[in-house]
Amino acid sequence: MTRSEWDPTRGRQGRAWRALVKQLCPPGSLCERPVCLYPELDRVIVFGLRRNHPHGPSLDHIVRLADGGHPTARWNLRPAHFGCNAGWRRDAPPTERPRSRDWPPLDLS
Ligand SMILES: [Zn+2]
Repeated sequence: MTRSEWDPTRGRQGRAWRALVKQLCPPGSLCERPVCLYPELDRVIVFGLRRNHPHGPSLDHIVRLADGGHPTARWNLRPAHFGCNAGWRRDAPPTERPRSRDWPPLDLS
């Protein structure tokens, strides 16, 4: 893979990355991070959720990009929950936020 095919500055997004997630983290995958943030899920990665749901699929870099890890090589990737991968704080477990249309209507009176 050449540099033009993968721009590390773009981060974990885009069609190429999603195709890789689909390939390396298929339905039935388990979160392989040493510490999973969602013990209640028993490491099961949940599929069919909205994109970027914390329980949904993602790929974790075994050697972090910041430490010079390869962004797309299979040997540097393992299945992980999106939320585990994003490294969200434990003290603020991600919850379903109300969608904008669920906000109470403005009181214009
Ligand atoms: Zn996890």
